[in-house]
Amino acid sequence: MALPFLPANQLSRRTGIDYHDIELFKDVNPLDWEDWHWQMKNRIRSKEALAKVINLTKEEEMGIRKASGKLGLAITPHLATLMDPNDPNCPVRRQFVALAAEFQTSPHEMSDPCAEDRDSPVPGLVHRYPDRVLFLATESCAAYCRHCTRRRLVGDHSATAAPSKFEQAFEYIRANRKIRDVLISGGDPFMLEDDNLEEILKNLRSISHVEFLRIGTRIPVSLPQRINEKFIKMLKKYSPIWLSIHFNHPKEINKRTKLACDMLSDNGFPLGSQTVLLRGINDKPYVMRRLMHELLEIRVRPYYIYQCDPVKGTAHFRTPVAAGINIIEKMRGHTSGYAVPTYVIDGPGGGGKIPVSPNYMLSQAKGKYVLRNYRGKIYTYIE
Ligand SMILES: *Cc1c(COP(=O)(O)O)cnc(C)c1O
Repeated sequence: MALPFLPANQLSRRTGIDYHDIELFKDVNPLDWEDWHWQMKNRIRSKEALAKVINLTKEEEMGIRKASGKLGLAITPHLATLMDPNDPNCPVRRQFVALAAEFQTSPHEMSDPCAEDRDSPVPGLVHRYPDRVLFLATESCAAYCRHCTRRRLVGDHSATAAPSKFEQAFEYIRANRKIRDVLISGGDPFMLEDDNLEEILKNLRSISHVEFLRIGTRIPVSLPQRINEKFIKMLKKYSPIWLSIHFNHPKEINKRTKLACDMLSDNGFPLGSQTVLLRGINDKPYVMRRLMHELLEIRVRPYYIYQCDPVKGTAHFRTPVAAGINIIEKMRGHTSGYAVPTYVIDGPGGGGKIPVSPNYMLSQAKGKYVLRNYRGKIYTYIE
């Protein structure tokens, strides 16, 4: 079962474009480039700025115009080095540059498909499972993914209120002794200044029944410069913290991103990945397999592949469920078990993550299991 290789223009194998080769950034001082606040200040936020980096298509121009005032355009200079200026199908471009198609709503699409607002007992908290909560620490991200499932909330809002805005959330967790796992997400929690994130971590760590802390982030992909020594030193005080990093395509794994992941791993943070299945971006088994292999090489353990949620304006990203099942079918058994994540559908209306997998059990009766293996050969197991 030989899968094809990735086309060269979709594959950076940890290179990307040198930023000096991009006209807009050619005179940037390397110290500025490495400063995450510089990266944030110099994000590409307009059609005019983006046109200096890539050759925009009509579809993209229209998408950007319509996106203004909604989930806005925000592309870090780092991400700009990953975009192919001449290929409208570039997987990085497709994830961060709006298309006009985003502004069409399809049947079954919702603004809050996972009904998070309904399962929110206090502002900023989603409590769906018995022993764990989702803690929404911020609404900002370094760059805005066009497939964002929380686009109803996410964006650069001016009000980054006082840390006291989390007091109700801390109180809720303190009062609920069953909560042993807090998943800090957003937005991107790594967007917070060191002090503000530390305040959250310190409060959560002071609750004795909170055993497990994890953070969901896309920063190693969108703004790896954020992972600096001072930040790591702060995070380390609250170890262990597990990190779930949003990776969708091998092109996102360049040298700079590898360095950020190495710093995190070397300092004891276990890394996992979360991937959204996206049409034309990673819906081919050979692309997904390559992504998972490259993640293992940088010590990131593939965790979930998500079916793209039916969030308004994302129909052009969604694949049939069969595409996800086929990806797992082409990986399980064919490659390292560590490379195979769990494919899940977040049950619309608040069902939580439901695993969907190829069917390996052909029949089960009277202690006799008829199974097929990854090659389709049949085996019987007697209990
Ligand atoms: C994804 C999610 C979690 C964590 O689920 P795991 O399967 O434990 O990773 C917790 N709460 C909510 C609301 C979630 O969406």
